[in-house]
Amino acid sequence: MSSLMGSAVIDLVPFHVAVGVIYALNGIVILGLAWMFHSPRFHAWHIRAPMPMRVTKAQYYWNILPNLALSTVVTTGAIYGLSPWTLTAEPTAWWMILLQGFGVLVVYDFSYYFLHRLFHVKAFYPLVHLVHHRVRFPRAQDSLYQSPIELIAGVGLLMLVVWVVGPIHWVAFAGLFLIYSTLHIFIHSGMLFPHKLFGREVFWVLNQLTLKHHKHHLNKHGHNFAGVTPIPDLVFGTAA
Ligand SMILES: [Zn+2]
Repeated sequence: MSSLMGSAVIDLVPFHVAVGVIYALNGIVILGLAWMFHSPRFHAWHIRAPMPMRVTKAQYYWNILPNLALSTVVTTGAIYGLSPWTLTAEPTAWWMILLQGFGVLVVYDFSYYFLHRLFHVKAFYPLVHLVHHRVRFPRAQDSLYQSPIELIAGVGLLMLVVWVVGPIHWVAFAGLFLIYSTLHIFIHSGMLFPHKLFGREVFWVLNQLTLKHHKHHLNKHGHNFAGVTPIPDLVFGTAA
């Protein structure tokens, strides 16, 4: 039954448009944040002084550019290839769509927490995750600097969770995929947004998430493993 429901997603133009818009937004966010970081106008927003990586420019781009291509291929392949088992276009109540999107993000957040902790286990760390941690002070573009294995594992885990929780409505997937992908870029931005409204920080939540991930990269390798919310780290006593 689910494979029949899922096949409808492929025939749905708004679904393809949504995927395209999310990819475009990710491109705009990564380029925009990278430009902001390097523009003198926003230097005051930097979390700390730059820490140059100990890799050549050629080595750096030979990581992030193939990863950009791999990420696009793997993500597109996973979204479309697995859609008969993960996504549906069946009429679904709005509250159920919200619940599905929220549910996947919560399950993913806890699952990724354990994957990330596993990456930091001494025996595994040099094999995969060490590459991403060559970045001590990340900028938006450094969100791509990682082992291809880590990239595939991250996307694979998200799709596994969608499959386990799902099939979910494609709108729920579009919403959670937008949050998942842009947040991954934002928490690596290296900047805190100082905007205030009525004396309160407008981007307080985002700034806290960025700061937590910044600490993880800088020197707190045993803390702040989760990628979406601080909840798994708070539950398991690894929040910093
Ligand atoms: Zn890590």
